[in-house]
Amino acid sequence: MKTYDVVIVGGGIIGGSIAFELARRNLRVAVMDRQELMQEASWAAAGMLSPAPDCPAAIPLVPLGRASLAIYPKFINAVEEETGASTRYRTGGAVEVILRGDAERELSTLVALHHGLGLACEPLPLDEARNMEPALGRDARAAALLPDECSVQPRALSSAVLAAAASAGAVLCPRVEVTSLEVEAKKCIGVKTSKGEIFHAAQVVLAAGCWSSQIPEAAPYAPTIPVRGQMVALRYFGTPLRRVLRSEHGYLVSRGLGSPQTVVAGSTIENAGFEKRVTSGGVEKILTAANELVPELAKAEIIETWCGLRPGTPDQLPILGPVDVDGLIFATGHYRNGILLAPITAKLIGEWIVERKTSLDWDAFSPLRFLRANLDRSATAS
Ligand SMILES: Cc1cc2nc3c(=O)[nH]c(=O)nc-3n(C[C@H](O)[C@H](O)[C@H](O)COP(=O)(O)OP(=O)(O)OC[C@H]3O[C@@H](n4cnc5c(N)ncnc54)[C@H](O)[C@@H]3O)c2cc1C
Repeated sequence: MKTYDVVIVGGGIIGGSIAFELARRNLRVAVMDRQELMQEASWAAAGMLSPAPDCPAAIPLVPLGRASLAIYPKFINAVEEETGASTRYRTGGAVEVILRGDAERELSTLVALHHGLGLACEPLPLDEARNMEPALGRDARAAALLPDECSVQPRALSSAVLAAAASAGAVLCPRVEVTSLEVEAKKCIGVKTSKGEIFHAAQVVLAAGCWSSQIPEAAPYAPTIPVRGQMVALRYFGTPLRRVLRSEHGYLVSRGLGSPQTVVAGSTIENAGFEKRVTSGGVEKILTAANELVPELAKAEIIETWCGLRPGTPDQLPILGPVDVDGLIFATGHYRNGILLAPITAKLIGEWIVERKTSLDWDAFSPLRFLRANLDRSATAS
């Protein structure tokens, strides 16, 4: 029988970042993943670090996103110092382009929304936008600069985070599938694996991405759903892109500043169950949006296509914090923002486990909101 202070279920960017944080706090931590670690959503992500809400439902997330963006440089330093590896973290901002509709009105709404949420956003005259990003297409009708946004290379970040966690003392356990939680008298005392092995722990952190809802004891607190996102990587020989470029139809994240440049284009938002498949319709939609933003990309070579399953939730907000089962803590449901939110998630979970308090109010993300909603529904039905 193996015993740890903390067992983390799921070795994606969320589980890996929490493992690094807890190992640095001298806890005995194990991270279990049913396959090799970091092969799912975290591997598939584009790597934009943008706290801007992409729909009204995401507005409550903005303070958490801002807090995470603020500590990103410290997080990156800690990971890179521990390992000597580069995470390809890049500052410089993003340019949001409006291609349709009443562009001037949409631009002033965008700027007002950002300012109201405490996010930097400056209207950018189109000639200035083209000075900054010469490859920008002629279809742009208005543009804004989001100067604080950044990006990372998620695959580089993921492997550096794993190496950092291991170097700080966390035990990484690939090919260990957790099938249930060991709960006795409202206390979680460990996990059981598909091989029947039991790992005991004082605390269990559930960070299994969109599969969190498949663990029976976790399901009432974490009704996660897979939301497929497809991606295309291009080798681009035109004028290099310096910043993240976004429109209402898609986004472009470039890697490096040289030529040829790798440009990652995304994405789709699909409810296709757990099926991971790149489709011709998905790729067509992504490439149409990419070529509309930067027409020179039509000459780029397609070098890779892939997809991943985002951990979605019914209200599009993450699931963070303790529940009414002692020793069980959730860190899942990060949907479209898990790369951005990894540092703040790790910080808050670390604070809760070690100090039983958090430096930021996380009640809005409590897993208990789903339990309460279920109880309300059964009371109305009976
Ligand atoms: C196409 C795409 C683009 C994206 N772009 C961005 C972006 O630009 N910026 C951003 O911030 N976010 C982005 N995201 C979202 C981000 O990738 C996710 O929010 C984040 O990766 C979630 O991390 P995670 O660790 O919770 O989940 P995952 O990375 O999916 O990891 C969960 C892990 O749990 C393991 N697991 C599952 N069940 C079990 C079990 N029973 N036992 C053991 N292990 C188990 C899985 O094998 C997996 O390794 C994007 C996502 C996609 C798909």
